[in-house]
Amino acid sequence: MSPDQSIALRLPHQCPQCGQLARVNLRTSVKAQTVVLKWCCAACSYEWLVYGQDEVRLSRRAGIRDVADFREEARYRRGHGSLMQGDAVALDHVGYEIVERRNSANSTGHIRGDAKALRWLGSTGRELLLVLDNGKRLPIVLTHARGDDLTWEFDSSEKAHW
Ligand SMILES: [Zn+2]
Repeated sequence: MSPDQSIALRLPHQCPQCGQLARVNLRTSVKAQTVVLKWCCAACSYEWLVYGQDEVRLSRRAGIRDVADFREEARYRRGHGSLMQGDAVALDHVGYEIVERRNSANSTGHIRGDAKALRWLGSTGRELLLVLDNGKRLPIVLTHARGDDLTWEFDSSEKAHW
């Protein structure tokens, strides 16, 4: 990163805890030489860590306009489904949100469900199938848990749909 390149973050559009829309603030705390960034919900005070995937790449020339364009270029899908490992149902009820970007063949997102089951599934590092409410099976790999342990981020090599 060049020194004159600023960091821009995509504001989460929804609190993962209470589901309130667009009432999320950025909090900073300083630990020794490190600044820790957290999102904080104005409605329920739930806090969660800012991850690298929240970062928006800004080109210096286009500047802030890229942020608006970026938002329009992403689609969010929310629903409830299940998780399969091979042919077996690993977790029969999960909530999901999938983020799909127009210019990417991949998607990211998060799922919420039973903490113990997700911790085990996440620890295996194996590919799972997220069965969406429209029946589509999206291959996903759980990457890391958010602070609440019930919510896991995932990467997918596919999109549900664009
Ligand atoms: Zn909240």
